[in-house]
Order: sequence, then structure tokens, then C-alpha cells
Amino acid sequence: MSNNITTEDILRISGVDTRKCMFCGKCSGTCPAFDEMEYHPHQFVYMVQWGMIDKLMESKSIYKCLTCFACLERCPRNVQPAKLIEAVRQAVIRQQGMNHMTENDIPGLLEDKLPQQAIVSAMRKYKK
Ligand code: SF4
Ligand code: SF4
Repeated sequence: MSNNITTEDILRISGVDTRKCMFCGKCSGTCPAFDEMEYHPHQFVYMVQWGMIDKLMESKSIYKCLTCFACLERCPRNVQPAKLIEAVRQAVIRQQGMNHMTENDIPGLLEDKLPQQAIVSAMRKYKK
């Protein structure tokens, strides 16, 4: 399925310059969500650069990023891969006109020991 979202769209939304990446993999090496992600931060950079946007938009990886920004801190070239992930997620939201979940879906997903701060943080991230 083609989403008609281009590399240029993602670069414009994110403000990232993928050409600065030297594919050292430090961003992925430091990512706490690495095991959960089908595509890892350095792969986002590569895949956006080479126009593989549809695959990224269809991947659950865009919802696994914790927005901790460890990948930004670690990157020696200031590429900011987390901004690419957020831009792809934003493109999906804009296209479908809503997020992949609503407030009403949340109570059923909560665990007893989840800190309140995490819930508030998640709401900020997942609300439009
Ligand atoms: S985004 Fe930065 S840390 Fe990640 S592979 Fe590229 S240069 Fe390395
Ligand atoms: S911001 Fe997302 S991609 Fe970057 S290190 Fe944190 S969880 Fe991983």
C-alpha cells in the first residue's frame, strides 16, 4: 500500500538531515526500546534517506519509541533520529485523521504499578 508520503515530507516535518549520518549505530546501541523495535533508530535514518517510508509507516516501531532522546544524546553527528521516528508517526496520524488509540483504550491497558507520571507522559505523546 502506498501512503504517498515522501522522504522530503519526512525531512521537512522532522527538520533532520539524514545525510549527516555515518551509520555508526551508536543511536541503536543506546536505545532502551531496541528489542521492541522492528526497525532501529539508525535504520530509520537509512530507510527515510532511501525512500522506504511506507514500510516505516506500517511498522509498530513508531509506537515503541519512548521519546527518551538517548539517541540524540549519543549521536556524534547530531542527526536526531528520534525526530524522524516522531515525524513518521505524525505522518500516519495526519493521514488517518486520528491516533492509533484513544483515551478510552487506555484503562484496559494499565498495569497496577505503572507510575502516574508515565501515564501522563504517554497521554501527551499519543494525543494529537
Ligand atoms: S544517527 Fe547518529 S548515532 Fe545513529 S548511526 Fe547515524 S551518525 Fe550514528
Ligand atoms: S528516543 Fe526512541 S529511538 Fe531514540 S533512544 Fe529513545 S526510545 Fe530509542
